Amino acid sequence: MTFNDLGLIDPILRALKEKGYTQPSPIQEQAIPILLRGTDLLGVAQTGTGKTAAFAVPILQLLSEMPKERGHKRIKALIVTPTRELAIQIGDSFSAYGKHTGLRNTVIFGGVKQSKQTNELRRGVDILVATPGRLLDLIGQGYITLKDVKFFVLDEADHMLDMGFIHDIKKLIERLPARRQSLFFSATMPTSIVKLSRKILGEFEQVTIKPKQATAERVEQALYFVAKKDKVNLLIHILETRQDDAVLVFSRTKHGADKIVRKLLKANVKASAIHGNKSQNNRQRTLAQFKNREVRVLVATDIAARGIDVSELSLVINFDLPNISETYVHRIGRTGRALASGIALSFCMMEERPYLKGIEKLIRQQIPVIEDHPFPDDGTAPPAAKQQNRSQHNRNKHRSKRRRPKSNNNRNRRRTD
Ligand code: AMP
Repeated sequence: MTFNDLGLIDPILRALKEKGYTQPSPIQEQAIPILLRGTDLLGVAQTGTGKTAAFAVPILQLLSEMPKERGHKRIKALIVTPTRELAIQIGDSFSAYGKHTGLRNTVIFGGVKQSKQTNELRRGVDILVATPGRLLDLIGQGYITLKDVKFFVLDEADHMLDMGFIHDIKKLIERLPARRQSLFFSATMPTSIVKLSRKILGEFEQVTIKPKQATAERVEQALYFVAKKDKVNLLIHILETRQDDAVLVFSRTKHGADKIVRKLLKANVKASAIHGNKSQNNRQRTLAQFKNREVRVLVATDIAARGIDVSELSLVINFDLPNISETYVHRIGRTGRALASGIALSFCMMEERPYLKGIEKLIRQQIPVIEDHPFPDDGTAPPAAKQQNRSQHNRNKHRSKRRRPKSNNNRNRRRTD
């Protein structure tokens, strides 16, 4: 299947070609025809699957085919997304895919002065990408009206709810015209999300791009058992031995992220942190430095990392394992984006083993363990590769093995339990 087969108009086909896209990703292949027919869509998919183009391309096409407005442009497509980084990235995608359409988009988000954003809005836009808080704020101030919105996209709905945006979303829905095409995207579908989707969508079709497929097929994963005290040293060791240019490291906390960066800088690794305590300008600057390789290692918390889209990000390191299994899937989806492939390495200390269990259950695979490293967690736990099954008998057996000198030839051994 090619983009030509999807019935796209020439200005969009040209833009996709200029972006270097040769064929649609699975979500694009499935969602674009549904959306071009004017049907509502429920997309169960995470960032990294190509979902932005899956909704941006048909919206651009349908907007291009509408009769030309006279006078001031009015907001006809509204995309609401949880984070500033995602909003910026979606705005960039609309600009890229829509560069030959003459349609204008702008992006609004909190944490920065509003004047630049309100100036853009005054000039008139067809497409508005927004985070919920700033959107409601500017609606309240009279800079934005949603009465002309024909296309509404709620992106990353599960993260919206995690971040406490439910009331904002409900307020927004009340302000949208009843006649509209709605698109609802979420990586996971717990009951709360299903309920919310029913409030937004009319008759809809569903496209599911399963994260576990994405995980299994695109990203090579491996696990290191390592004590907390050795995690930074292991990280430095890996960075010294690997050639990857751009490495994204996940830390569970902002404080932890800063600490990792301090230690990396001490070890002469160019690193920088990105998290909610950093100003918007600082985050943008750091991202730009990471993208142009002035900074090799970006240490991020989950929320800050949601929108990071760096092509050729070949390595993701989970310095801390997330306590929510789905987060693992989101994280490793940062590498091996769309059609490429990547590597995700995870550090697991004793206290994180229950999280590992949850993750492996979700992705329905066991992550191969790398035993051959200088900081094996043999002080507190049996090497996991030897956990044939987790019976007491075996645990006892392994406790005695732990006292034996370490062998260095078990590289990348897969657990068998
Ligand atoms: P998204 O899931 O929308 O954040 O997209 C993930 C990444 O895949 C972005 O870097 C896109 O530029 C890229 N991408 C999206 N669609 C395609 C495609 N059909 N071919 C190649 N790359 C793509």
